[in-house]
Amino acid sequence: MKSIIKKQFIDCSDTDSFCFSLECPECGKVWKSTPVRFSKAGENSFTEEKRIVLKILYEREHAMALEKAAAEAATFFNLCPHCGKMVCDDCFMICEDLDICRSCAESLKETGEPISFAGWVAG
Ligand SMILES: [Zn+2]
Ligand SMILES: [Zn+2]
Repeated sequence: MKSIIKKQFIDCSDTDSFCFSLECPECGKVWKSTPVRFSKAGENSFTEEKRIVLKILYEREHAMALEKAAAEAATFFNLCPHCGKMVCDDCFMICEDLDICRSCAESLKETGEPISFAGWVAG
């Protein structure tokens, strides 16, 4: 599931920190990952060699932050097995036979409760 999330991420990273966002296609809610600061943020050694080193470090930390954000997003988003969309907990229905997104639940005439609601009941 992480690879699907990564494909749908919007990269909001800048030169100082890494951050990714994901939009729920059902309700349009935008989730943002916890920003991770680049370890060399604000570093000002601008020799050509240093720039190359910083660029490599940046790419490495960017990839790590992406992994972390995908793991984080996986706890808030769910993959609908019917339409293949990544929807947020509010739009993902726990149905009797199959857990699917809200619009698929409607079209397949399945009834259920959204995850967030089911969570309150349990919790
Ligand atoms: Zn949603
Ligand atoms: Zn669906």
